[in-house]
Parts: sequence; C-alpha cells; structure tokens
Amino acid sequence: MDQSQAKKKKPGSEGIPANTVEKFKWPDPNEPPTEVEHNPHSHLSQRQDTPTSLPRDPKTPYFDTIYPRIVITYNDLTASMAEAQKEGIRNDKTTLAVVPLGAGSAWFKRNPEAHVQLTKFFRDLNVEENADAASQIVVYPPEARIDRSGQTFANVKQMYAKPWPLILTGAGENLRKFATWFQTFAVSEDMVFSVVEFDETLQSWVIANIGADPNFGFLTPGCEKRILKEIKDKLWSDDKFRRFVDFALGAQGVAGSACDRVVIATQSLTVEFLGTMQDEDVAKKEVAVVQLRGKPISPIPETHTEWLAHIRRIIKSCRYNPHVRFDVVRVFKACTACKSEAHPTNTCPFLHIQHWYGPSLEKYKAMEKRTLDSAKGNHEKSPARGDRGGRGRRGGRGANRGRGWQTVGRGGHVYNKD
Ligand SMILES: [Zn+2]
Repeated sequence: MDQSQAKKKKPGSEGIPANTVEKFKWPDPNEPPTEVEHNPHSHLSQRQDTPTSLPRDPKTPYFDTIYPRIVITYNDLTASMAEAQKEGIRNDKTTLAVVPLGAGSAWFKRNPEAHVQLTKFFRDLNVEENADAASQIVVYPPEARIDRSGQTFANVKQMYAKPWPLILTGAGENLRKFATWFQTFAVSEDMVFSVVEFDETLQSWVIANIGADPNFGFLTPGCEKRILKEIKDKLWSDDKFRRFVDFALGAQGVAGSACDRVVIATQSLTVEFLGTMQDEDVAKKEVAVVQLRGKPISPIPETHTEWLAHIRRIIKSCRYNPHVRFDVVRVFKACTACKSEAHPTNTCPFLHIQHWYGPSLEKYKAMEKRTLDSAKGNHEKSPARGDRGGRGRRGGRGANRGRGWQTVGRGGHVYNKD
C-alpha cells in the first residue's frame, strides 16, 4: 500500500539542488559495515535454539558438525521444476527442500534411488512423535520441466543442471525443526544433503563479482578498502542511483533526505577478495576477483533487480587508474557443490572439512571427472547395435551407484565439536 501511494507521487530527488548533495556530509566510506549479523552468507547451521526433539538412535550414521549456512533462493530451488510440482510446493508450506551436495542432473543419475533412501533416512531418525507420524514422511525426486533423461553431460555445466532439490513432504513439526536446524547430513562421499526451507523471503546479498587481469595486481588480499571507497564514491555521486534509493527507501518509510537514504542503503556494503580463478567460459583466461555484497534494498523482486542493475552499471564507471576500469565478471555463477553464490567450487568450505563423511575437493573433482568421462564413453558406445551398447541409456550405472549407503560405518553419528 505504501508502495502504490509512493508510486503515484513519483517522488525522487529531482528537486534536490546539486550543492545540497555536495554539501552533504558523507561518512568515511570505510566505516565498519552495518547489518553484518543479518548477512545470510556468513550464517552457520544450528544457529537457532537446539530443538527439543532430537534423533533417537538413528539407523544411518551421519557426520555432526556446524556448517556454513546453505543459501539458495526460492527461485533457484524451484528453477526448471515441472509447474505442477512448483504449485505443490507453493500450496504446502510444510514441504522442505533436500539439496544434495553437488546436486544436478548427474547426481540424480548416479543416485536414482535417492528419494527412497532419503525417505527411509528421515523416518529412521526417530524425531517424530510416533511411528504413525514418521510413516507420513515421503521424499520425492524433482521433476524436471524438460525431460533430461537422455542427457549425456558433454560438459561440467550440464552435470549440475537444475532442478537441484528433492522434496521432503509429510514431515511433522519435530522433523522440520530438527532437520532445518541441523541442516547438513553427511552420510558418505556422494551422499551429503542439506535440508532447507522453500523460503520466498530469502535473498542473496551478492551484488556483483568484479574482476581484473591478475597481472595488474589491482585485486589482491588487502585491496578491499580501496575498492569499496571507489565504489561508494561513485554510488554516492550518481543522480539516478540517488533517485532510485530515495524512492525505494521512501516507499518503505525510511526517514531522512535522499542523501541520508543513500548512506543507509550503502552502509552494509562489503568487498571480499575471492582469489584468482579460471574463467569458466574462456579457456586459459585467469581473472582476479573480488565480490561486492550488501543488504538487499527491498523484498520486492523488481526493486531488488533494479538495485543490482544500478550498482553494476555504476561499478563499470569505477577505475583502478586512468587506464583500467572495473569490470563486472561472470567467472562463476554459483559453487557447483553447495550452490552458494559467495564462492567458487574450489574454495567451497564443505569440500575442506577434515575427516568428515563427505568428499574432499580432490575426491569431488575426481568424481566429477569420472562422471564426465563415463558419460562420454557411454555416449560413444550407445548408438551401437544390439542391447549391449545400451548401458548408458539405462542410467544409474555410474561409478558410485548405490555405494553411498552401504559403505557407511557403524557406531552412531560422529561428534566433532572442536
Ligand atoms: Zn560451496
């Protein structure tokens, strides 16, 4: 309602004289960021109070530790899913997403029975009030909007194609509370899954990845303050950005002048050095990358999109020096393992947990290579005559099929609180 009223008025800072902006006392651009505690990318699992109902003698052991929070937006969770399934999720607020580490079409091909095993896993946790409640639990695999059953993974991107999550239904309050609090269950190297809500209010704080030729040495650890200052200076002096922020925050009832509102909107911004990485799309091109993050300006998707577009536009006017400007790069979209937008796969914290049941980075990469090689091998064989060449078509014959659940050791779950 505030929004529509504000729209009619079409406010903005058109009327703000330039000298008001110039005279405004802008703060130090490197003042400590605000709202850090609300940044989902720095949250951990088990951050709420311990649930009252915990598993009683679970049948399958899983690794127990505190993990980084899994941050996947609703749109990404439901992307490429069949419409009917999306509708089902929308209409039943008790459904939860079960996202395997390394989810995508290749994972589902390697683990065709995962939904059956997961159903059993969640029932056997014994967190529901009674066996009757537990028997309601059913996990469904995602139904891809476009049938990908014939897919042969010619490249890494296809292996991780959406949809990503399985759908946990029929969970009572006990299981929902425990599973989302605990978040990540590592059972074996190819069977690590996280339980998250289909939360339409969750927004990514990632604004843009900024890249430069590593040979220039502009983006290195310790460059963050310099980069943030350049970005804020340009944001603060941009008229269109000021008008947009004034309108967006004004509609939400945030007090202050247009300049005050610009300060408020930009005070949560942070710059994080991500490292030097290979461009996924351009062979042999290395890029040094920093990431700009900040609290989304609005829960309204259109306004959020506009916010990102303004900042990305202005970043391109930022400069390291007279000869080189900032560049918004797409060297990676999200980590292929945990789907975070805040780091590339190589530095995924989940692949650097010591002695857990899940994979190390080396094993994860080896599994990726095996899947790719075997898909290519099958692809070459599959057109052959007779039924012997058809192995690839039957699916689920990948190197790890079914192994995950059988190789698990006994003796309850591992506690690793150090
Ligand atoms: Zn990751």
